[in-house]
Order: sequence, then C-alpha cells, then structure tokens
Amino acid sequence: MDCIFCKIISHQLPAEVLYENDRVISILDINPIHYGHALVIPKTHCLDFLSIPEADLHHVLHATQIVARAVVKSLNLDGFNIFSNNGRIAGQSVFHFHMHITPRYAGDNIRFVLQLKSYQQGAMEDYAARIRQHIP
Ligand code: AMP
Ligand code: ZN
Repeated sequence: MDCIFCKIISHQLPAEVLYENDRVISILDINPIHYGHALVIPKTHCLDFLSIPEADLHHVLHATQIVARAVVKSLNLDGFNIFSNNGRIAGQSVFHFHMHITPRYAGDNIRFVLQLKSYQQGAMEDYAARIRQHIP
C-alpha cells in the first residue's frame, strides 16, 4: 500500500520518533505549525477517525496524552491543541488516521473558527434530534 505513515511504521521511510509501542507510533511532523508539532499514529492502517477500531483508539488517545505531556514540559508551553483532520475538505492530506499535537504561543494568531453562527429558533433542537437518531 502506498501510505507514507505505513512506510514510516515499517521503517521504509525515516522519521523522528518520539514514542513507540506495539500499537502506536508518535513522530515529529515534517512541516510543523510550530516546532515540536507531533503526530500520533496507530500502527494498523485505517483511513480516519470513523474507521479506527475502538481498541486502537484507546491506545492512540493514551499515547497522545503521554506525548502531549512531554511536548508541554520540554517546550515549557502554556497551551497546545490536539486535533485530527478527517476528509480532504477538512484538511486531511495523509489518509491514515492520526492525531496532531501542536504547541501554542501567545499571539501566534492561529484560529480554527473565524465566524461563529447562532441557531434560529428551534433549529438547535432539530439538529440535536437529527444527530441523536444515528447514535447507536
Ligand atoms: P493531515 O494533513 O491532517 O492529514 O496531516 C498530515 C501531516 O503529516 C501533515 O501535517 C504533514 O506535514 C505530515 N507529514 C507528511 N509526510 C510526513 C513525513 N514523511 N514525516 C512526518 N510528517 C509528515
Ligand atoms: Zn497507512
């Protein structure tokens, strides 16, 4: 399979590894938002957040906490973001699920939301009902 992260996991491509166990690997992002920007990647290939097996998700989240603590301590951060992009229109460029951990600094002007909406009367209930219908 032509997947950059699978190649890193199998050591066909180099990476700066921060943490590794039998289920996950964490590496430095090659094009960081800020230096120290890390990725946490399950070793089993899966496309996105919706397709990652529950057991792997647990390991990814645990590793994300371990690496985030190390990033915060080593860089003496006051804040950081964890996120994942799912789907091309959401900014996903590597189609093997991964979490991002990015340092944040005062005044770095990174914004995820430019304009917040308000719900019209009744619309919030409608959206909640639509979503609840699909909760198993
Ligand atoms: P996303 O755009 O959310 O799919 O994130 C993919 C991330 O992988 C991007 O931030 C890239 O900079 C990063 N990336 C791509 N190739 C490599 C690589 N060979 N080593 C480390 N990070 C990479
Ligand atoms: Zn892969």
